[in-house]
Amino acid sequence: MDNNNEKRKLKQCPFCGVTNNGQNMIVEIYDEELYKYTYCFNCKSSSYNWNVRHIETLLNAEIEQLKKDNQLLVKQINKIKKGDLLWK
Ligand SMILES: [Zn+2]
Repeated sequence: MDNNNEKRKLKQCPFCGVTNNGQNMIVEIYDEELYKYTYCFNCKSSSYNWNVRHIETLLNAEIEQLKKDNQLLVKQINKIKKGDLLWK
């Protein structure tokens, strides 16, 4: 994977919200012990767990499920509106 793809994969800054769209505001750096961390030039924040956001992943999965459920309910309501009821 080339370097630009790596930079695009970095999530937006959890502290100030800046993203890496076309700029290098967020970079990955290695500390003295060679542990990789992420640094934001905009707000000068850094984190070792920048891209690890379990709650965000769980919430996105729940949102997707709720969207599917909602679409299914809309379809069922439209069937009922058209008089396409189960007992016909
Ligand atoms: Zn920031």
